[in-house]
Parts: sequence; C-alpha cells; structure tokens
Amino acid sequence: MKEHTQVVVIGGGIVGAAVLYHLTKLGWSDVVLVERKQLTAGSTWHAAGGFHAMNSDPNVARLQAYGISVYKEVEEISGQDVGMHLTGGINIAATPERWEVIRYEHARHKVIGIDSHLLSPEEIKKLCPIIDTSNVIGGLFDGNEGNIDPYGSTHALAKAARIAGAEVYLKTKVEDLVHKADGTWTVVTDKGNIHCEHVVNAAGLWAREVGAMAGVQVPLIPMEHHYILTGDIDAIKDFDGELPMMIDLDGEMYLRQEQNGVLLGVYEKNSTPWSVHFTPWDYGETDLLEPRLDDIGDALMQGFERFPSLAEAGIRRVVNGPFTFTPDGNPLIGPVRGVQNYWSCCGVMAGFSQGSGVALALSQWMIDGESEGDVFAMDVNRFGAFATKKFVIDKGMEFYENRFKLLCPNDEWTAARPNKISVFYERLQQANAVFGPSYGLELPLWFAPPGSEPIETPSFRRSNAHDPVGEECRAVRDSVGILDGSSFAKYQISGPDAVAYMDYLFASRLPDIGRIRMGPLLLPSGHLKGDLTVMRLAEDEFMVIGSGYLQEFHMLWFEQQVGDKSVRIVNRSDELTTIVIAGPQSRELMQLVASGDLDKDSMPFMSVRSMDVGFAPCQVARISFTGELGYEIYLPTVYALALYDYLLEVGKKFAIRPFGIRALVSMGMEKSFGIWSREYSPDYTPAMCGFDRFVDYGKADFIGREAALADRDAALEHRLVALEIDSTDADAWGYEPIWYKDEYAGFVTSGTYGHTVEKSLALGYVKTPFLESSNDEFSVHVVDQLRPAKILAEPPYDPRALKMRS
Ligand SMILES: Cc1cc2nc3c(=O)[nH]c(=O)nc-3n(C[C@H](O)[C@H](O)[C@H](O)COP(=O)(O)OP(=O)(O)OC[C@H]3O[C@@H](n4cnc5c(N)ncnc54)[C@H](O)[C@@H]3O)c2cc1C
Repeated sequence: MKEHTQVVVIGGGIVGAAVLYHLTKLGWSDVVLVERKQLTAGSTWHAAGGFHAMNSDPNVARLQAYGISVYKEVEEISGQDVGMHLTGGINIAATPERWEVIRYEHARHKVIGIDSHLLSPEEIKKLCPIIDTSNVIGGLFDGNEGNIDPYGSTHALAKAARIAGAEVYLKTKVEDLVHKADGTWTVVTDKGNIHCEHVVNAAGLWAREVGAMAGVQVPLIPMEHHYILTGDIDAIKDFDGELPMMIDLDGEMYLRQEQNGVLLGVYEKNSTPWSVHFTPWDYGETDLLEPRLDDIGDALMQGFERFPSLAEAGIRRVVNGPFTFTPDGNPLIGPVRGVQNYWSCCGVMAGFSQGSGVALALSQWMIDGESEGDVFAMDVNRFGAFATKKFVIDKGMEFYENRFKLLCPNDEWTAARPNKISVFYERLQQANAVFGPSYGLELPLWFAPPGSEPIETPSFRRSNAHDPVGEECRAVRDSVGILDGSSFAKYQISGPDAVAYMDYLFASRLPDIGRIRMGPLLLPSGHLKGDLTVMRLAEDEFMVIGSGYLQEFHMLWFEQQVGDKSVRIVNRSDELTTIVIAGPQSRELMQLVASGDLDKDSMPFMSVRSMDVGFAPCQVARISFTGELGYEIYLPTVYALALYDYLLEVGKKFAIRPFGIRALVSMGMEKSFGIWSREYSPDYTPAMCGFDRFVDYGKADFIGREAALADRDAALEHRLVALEIDSTDADAWGYEPIWYKDEYAGFVTSGTYGHTVEKSLALGYVKTPFLESSNDEFSVHVVDQLRPAKILAEPPYDPRALKMRS
C-alpha cells in the first residue's frame, strides 16, 4: 500500500470505480481507491443495473448520455465484459395528462440532445409483447437505454483505471480522516495510513459515516427497494429480440428482461427508510434485507395487471436492498465548503445511469477547478444547514414515493414543510399567501383571493394563480406593492484588502461609496459563476446580494478566492431581512416613513444609503427588479416585523398590497430581466447573455479575464433574446425548442405571462445566424403545441427604463 498519493477515493461501488477511472482518464494517475470489502459490496451488487439517458435537466442528461458511452470504452480497455444490453427504453403513458407531458418531454428532447420517438400502443406492443396496452395511450422510446452487469461494469472501470496507473486496495477499511494544517489528509485505514492531497467520499451507503470522519453531515438517507425476478415467460422465449426497458410512469414501476423472465421493480407508496441513524459496518456484499411483501403487494398487483403473463410465470426471487436518496433525488458532488480538499461524490441514486457522468464532472472540478456546464443540480452545496436529519428523511421518503410522479412545474411538494419561515410568515398567511420553499425557506408565491383555499392546482397550463398574480402586478404598476425579500442572500465583505479582493473577484468595476453595480462573477473559463448585486457601504465595506438558494455555492467560491488577503466575509442572510417596496408611489410612501433624503437627485437609481425606516436602522437601496421605481430595505431581522406592519399601515393611503415571487418574475420578464439558473449559469458567457455590458474589460486583472476577452472578440454561437409567444392558455417554462420554419433555432430558458403587456413572454438563446432571419417564421413549443413566436427588439415594458429611474 502506498504511503503517499494525490487522491484517495473511499468506496469501491460503481461510483468510486468511475471516479478512479475518470481521474486517470483526465490525467491524474497517482490515485488510489480504498474499499473495505470487495468491489460492489454496497448498493451496487444487488442493483437491477438499468440505465436511462432521459432526464429533464439538459446537463444531467448530457452526463447520463456520456456515462452510458463509457461502458463500452472501459470494456475495450480492460477486457472485462460489462454485460451491456442496449435494448432501448419506453416510458408509458396511461392517462391523458401523462400523454400530454410525454409529448412535451419529447419536444424538449430536441434541446436536451435526446433522440426519442413517440410510439402508439400497437408499436409498444410490438417491442414488448407481454404488455397489456388496453389503457395505454402511447409511449416515448429512447434507444440509448438498457441494462448493465453491476459486477462487470464496476470491475471494468476499476481495471481500466489500474491499467492507467491507479491502485485499488480491497479489504481495507477507512477508519478515520485527519485533516492536516496544510490542507492535506491522513487517511487512517485498518491496514495503515495514507497521506494524500485530496479525499473523495464515494462511500455510498456509508457516505454519512465517512462524512462524519471529516465533520461533514451528508444529506442522504438509505431507502429499502424491491424488485422481483420471475420464472420463464413463453412470450419472451418465443420473442425474436430483447424487451426494452419499460417504465410505467403511472404505475410507478420498471421492468426489464432477465433471461427468459423479467425483473420488475416497484416504488411503493409506503416507503421504508433503512438504517436511519447509522449504516452497519457489517452489511456487505452478500446481504439483502427481509422482503416486505405486504408493503409492495399493491404495487406488484399493478405490475401484474400491466404485464399479465408475470402472474402465470410466478415469482422466482424477491430482492430487497437499500440505496441512498437525497432530498431532491440528485447526487451530491463537489468540494465541501469549509473542508479543504474534501470532495463529495455520493447520494447517487441511479449509479448505472449517472456514475460515470458524476465522476467526469467531479474529476474535471478537481483537476481543472471547474466542471463543464452547469452542474448545480448535483452540487452538494445546494444544501445548507436547513437539510437536517428529519428534513432529509422526510424529503427522501417523499422523493422515493413520487419517483415517477407527473411533475408539474408549479407543483410545490409538501414534505418537510414548513422548515424555515420568515418573520412575516403569519402576516402572509393572513393575507392568504400560497407558499413555495426555496433553500428550506417558505416564500410567498402569490396571494389567493380572500375566502378561497390558498392552494395552487398543479398544471403545465396557466393555473388558478393566473388572475390573482395579474392583480398583484397591476397593484405594483399602478401604486405600490410590498414583498417579503427574506430569501435574498446577503454577504458582507470588508477588511483592509477588501477592495483588492473584490476587484479581482468581480468582472465588473466596483461601485463608488453609496452606489450599486451589477457584479458578474466569472470562472477561469470565462463562463458565469454568479450574478450578484454589489453595494458599497464604505471605502472597504461591501454588501453583496444574491439569490438565497445559492448561499453555500457563493460562500464556497468567495472563500476559495481569499488567498493571503486580509478580508472578512460574513453570510448575513438570516440575520438580515429584506423588504421590497415597488411601484410609482413607493417614493411617496418611503418619504413618510424614512429618515433619509429620498429625492431623485440625492438618491438616484442604483444608490444605497443608511437611514432609519420607522424604528429600524436600515440600508435602503434604490434598485428594482419589477421595472418600477422601487426600494430594497435591508435591516436586522428583529426589527423587520414591526417595520412591515408600519409600512402596511402607512401604505394604506396608497392602497399598498403584498405581492409574491410570481408577480415579481412576471414583471421582471416584461423588462427582459434574466435570472440565475435559467438565463444565467455556467453554461453561458457574458457576451452570450448580454452581461458584457457589466464587465470591465479594461481592468488589470479579474478571475476569467483572459477568457472573457477572447469571448468578447469571438463570434457568438447563441445569444439571449426576448420572445413574445402567441399562446392563450399556457406559457413556456424552460428548455422548449425555438424553431425557425422547421429548423431548430434555439431554446427557451424561462417563460411566463406578462400581465401588464398582456402577452405570453419568454427568454431564450437563439443561434446567431437566425437573428438575421425574418421575424414572422419563429415558433416555440408550449406544452405539446407549436405556437408562433417573435423575437422582441426591446423589452416589452418601459424599454427606455424611465420608470425605474424616475
Ligand atoms: C434493489 C435495488 C435496485 C437498483 N436498481 C438500479 C438500477 O436499475 N439502476 C441504477 O442506476 N441504480 C439502481 N440501484 C441503485 C444503485 O445500486 C446505486 O445507485 C449505486 O449502487 C450506488 O453506488 P455507490 O458506489 O455510490 O455506492 P455503494 O454501492 O454503496 O458503494 C459504496 C462502497 O464504499 C465502500 N465503503 C464504505 N465505507 C468505506 C470505508 N470506510 N472504507 C472503505 N470502503 C468503504 C463500501 O464497502 C461499498 O463498496 C438499485 C439499488 C437497489 C437497492
């Protein structure tokens, strides 16, 4: 066993083996994998081995497609058979709603890069003769699906890594991790110590225990999961070919061929977490859990109805094994904040679809400092302190039980809620708010009419929120509205080197004292890392504002850039609250309650001042996402409720009205303002999304400068544009294709209805050659229909921005 190495990967399941292989593939060969028993001794050995390329997140889908391509690659390198059955897969729809969504997904696959096909029940029956299609409406076929041998694929990855120089230590248990002062690690095993620069937690079922060794709480929960293997089925024996991987979305089950029978897996409604507090170390490569046939009986019956010959063939074997679930079902990858050189690569629920994809992203991150594209959906830093044990269990169970649920974009799941609430929560409840969680915090989405239930009907079309949101928008546009901005992230950055630090961190020029600037953060590749608002409170003191759900993501990045500079970075997101006041009468209201001079000349657009508002000492920022004259009031949370009540009381004179996030987004869309994770993300560069106007290319240095300069001077492939869509009952949500005649011209990033301009609006990236084309020939898929669309030359509302600057 080596005493020193660059990387120790802990865990020899499909994920750890994939990480080991990808580190070598990208050029690091001084790497080892430590496995306490045999390769596959966790969840991996008893998996059904199914893999799918389909995913609604384009970056996850891209990584899944890549991962599937790796199996043949490692088979060739290693000579180890991976047992690949590329049978294709079919998602079945048995309700009209599901069929509509499947057709919608099919349209979006053009953007995501999946070559899928819609099938009729007859076509499904031809490919899968054992199915009863009597209530099946149709299906979606993808050729890049199938199943793999868990043992063969894991061994092939490990062997291919070994051929490239990696080492694998079996029957070697990591017992402790000691972080040294220089950031390196001593990995304490039962066979001796290994000193290394980086540690990767790929310990699957034991990821929580390996996390605890470094003081890291890993937000995942193992869940029990069953599949059955049947005896031989005549129709399969006689079938000339192999059955595709079948997913019955409405029946919450999957099925694939296993020799002359089938394997049927079910996601039952009464799910069972396993080893809630601690995964036993003696669980291993031959262990299975006691089947709970009573719990899965209903689910199995549904399977037998859909595939009647299963009942005749009989159950040959029942497998119940545990595997890990995170609160949102996505993996946990990336560097862990506050623990230098400690990398997470666990919580991978679908190891055979995602193992090599997450391993590629993680290896790029470790070696190049960033992964390609936007992998935030899998970033371990999307969770924070709010992801407590009970939260993780409740959300894990909810996710398991709704594994194939028809997921409407306005459907706010209910488990583990409320978790965090703002100080205004009760007031918002009294105003009949409909809430949705973000980073554990309940946000007011919209306000239901008095006397009605504050519940939104899940739908891909305009819901019962449509009219009330319209009223909220009109109130803001006509007089004044008030918004709970508690979810905003607020960072204070100060200290002797704060100016030098900030100047290097942000691609923009720093604001003068008392002023505000948009501050893009760039990655070394020149792609976006953040879209923050920078307020300068004093020569060496800044307040930086961002989206609340990115707190850990931002803080990690800020801390990683400190080096030897003397700078203090504090996340004050919970300690401070924000109240947003917006509308043409907001200055009049503020003049009645605030101590400062709010005249246009004293406090112009994009300025910030310290002043009292009511009883509260505040920072008041003149900034607007609604496109109206508006203020963001930042104040210590303890003062916030009293001030909110006071503003509502004084604001009666102006018919002040609370508004929610939906109205905010709608009004922002009318101004063609983009948002993070949609229009802005590491997928894009400043020039592509129009952020080049905020970048100070003349600055001596900033992160990503060289790449940003090259990007500015290069021909653009895509550009962000605003669109108007001719649609009467639905709006685009994101990743719908934009067509020019019948050519694929780009994709939507987000869409909503503009209640002031009374139009369906969207933002999206269009390939630059199409921007010269006639504007009468564009169309966009909205739900399952192609709708005419036009590219807008300017924001549809107040294009000269006179109102917010007034
Ligand atoms: C019944 C069932 C069916 C499934 N079907 C599918 C499917 O069809 N498709 C699919 O994609 N996924 C499926 N899965 C899920 C799949 O099994 C997991 O996604 C995958 O195995 C996770 O792999 P892993 O490497 O992250 O974790 P694990 O397989 O749990 O591997 C972790 C490894 O780390 C080792 N380890 C832990 N702690 C230490 C330590 N301290 N020192 C040294 N070594 C350590 C363990 O011994 C283990 O080998 C299924 C799971 C179950 C239970």
